[in-house]
Amino acid sequence: MRLYNTLTRRKEEFKPRELGKVAFYLCGPTVYNHIHIGNARTFLSFDVIRRYLEFSGYEVTYVQNVTDVDDKIIKRAAEEGRTVTEVAEEYTTAFIEVMHALGVKDPTIRPKATEEIPAMLALIECLVAGENAYESGGDVYFSVRSFPSYGKLSGRDIEQLQSGARVEIDERKRDPLDFALWKAAKPGEPSWPSPWGEGRPGWHIECSAMSERYLGTPFDIHAGGDDLVFPHHENERAQSEACSHTTFAHYWLHGGMLTIDREKMAKSVGNFLLLKDVLEKVRPQALRLLMLQTQYRSPFDYSVERLSEATAALERVESALRNLAWTTENYAGVPIAPNEPGERAVSWTGDLLARIERTREQFVLAMDDDFNTAGAVAAIFELVTAGNSSVSDGVLSESHRLAVIETADTIIKLLGVLGVMLGVDDSEDAEELPLETVELARELAGYHGDIPAEAVDLLLALRREARTHKDWATADAVRDGLGTLGFVIEDTSTGTRVVRR
Ligand code: AMP
Ligand code: ZN
Repeated sequence: MRLYNTLTRRKEEFKPRELGKVAFYLCGPTVYNHIHIGNARTFLSFDVIRRYLEFSGYEVTYVQNVTDVDDKIIKRAAEEGRTVTEVAEEYTTAFIEVMHALGVKDPTIRPKATEEIPAMLALIECLVAGENAYESGGDVYFSVRSFPSYGKLSGRDIEQLQSGARVEIDERKRDPLDFALWKAAKPGEPSWPSPWGEGRPGWHIECSAMSERYLGTPFDIHAGGDDLVFPHHENERAQSEACSHTTFAHYWLHGGMLTIDREKMAKSVGNFLLLKDVLEKVRPQALRLLMLQTQYRSPFDYSVERLSEATAALERVESALRNLAWTTENYAGVPIAPNEPGERAVSWTGDLLARIERTREQFVLAMDDDFNTAGAVAAIFELVTAGNSSVSDGVLSESHRLAVIETADTIIKLLGVLGVMLGVDDSEDAEELPLETVELARELAGYHGDIPAEAVDLLLALRREARTHKDWATADAVRDGLGTLGFVIEDTSTGTRVVRR
């Protein structure tokens, strides 16, 4: 498995620190609002990577924090006349709900910044003791120049940073490049006691402390969106390594940004989309499928058109799966191509088994190459097409039937590895036959039972019988009766079935 490491700027062979185990940290949300679909893209990308690592046999400890104390939360609470805790709790709950709706697995550990203050204080004390940090007016700052490899992660040169830095009129800092580890309390803000007086942690120290506490260092993978490389991750790395004098994280993974209709998503542009609002209109699996069609490091452009294409693609997969299931269930056991009984069955079976094998290989090859989900999805789609054409004349032999079942299983399983769970949503309910079909079968065919599936079978048999006798009135009565209930009858080369209109 090879993955692109931001730190070294190349793809590297993945070697975890401990055989068979992965220690993985993903920066979580700052809970001052509902998350937008850009945040969702990043969280979904790493959910897929985590799932794939698990599929590959690794035991993954996946830590994602919640930043529940921060300037933005404090500002929001003040605007709304609420406490910081109330605001943070509301959006933490909303965040978890919407992650579940999108099918993102819960992290192994979800630490909250406000519950991890002792670990942050310990780290800051270590930095102060080692003269990598200094107190100034109740604040504590990290001294960037005390850490020689500052800038290595983001590929920035410290002198250039210096010349680019605004000459801040901040007398508390010794150097404009320095950043806050601890901020002295202001009236009305949440605060905790510290050796430097009441105050609260800076954002960067939160992640250093929480990742070290739950994963130990060096851990394997540190992840987030591209926009976190600088300064957030640069600063995390500096703080942690300045104190521990060892590597903080081996692999740094960064996801590409989401744009909307090729524009940066921003409130000012008016194209700001919250995940919860998008999920009200589309199936989560469709959004997932759409996002998966771009490799996680590439920028991802969202548009309504692309989303409806993904919805259509998802429906094609589901319809193919229904087709495969239906054909195998309705297998009569007799080859229906009398002129070439064995041959076609043998060739379809062989072709299909080979295609399944190829799909599995391509899926793994693509995913092992820096989690190329686009390639993985393409391989699955090819199997969908192959499965569909393989049953165009029905199921031709028992071995062909088994190959078709395996095709369907492989499609479901591989999509499942990517977190696209089929058959767990309303599309299944939609296929459920209503009780009114029993009523209809009673009326038209003298049915005495109470099972909709049986009733529909009987109705279809009645229609078939009527058509052979050219009794169009009865045949039409069945069609119209089912039509009123919202179903259409589909005649295929292998038989007849009803589907919801
Ligand atoms: P934040 O709450 O702003 O720290 O963001 C949470 C996560 O969402 C971080 O990993 C960000 O990198 C990521 N993120 C923010 N904006 C976007 C975007 N437009 N596209 C993709 N990821 C984003
Ligand atoms: Zn972080």
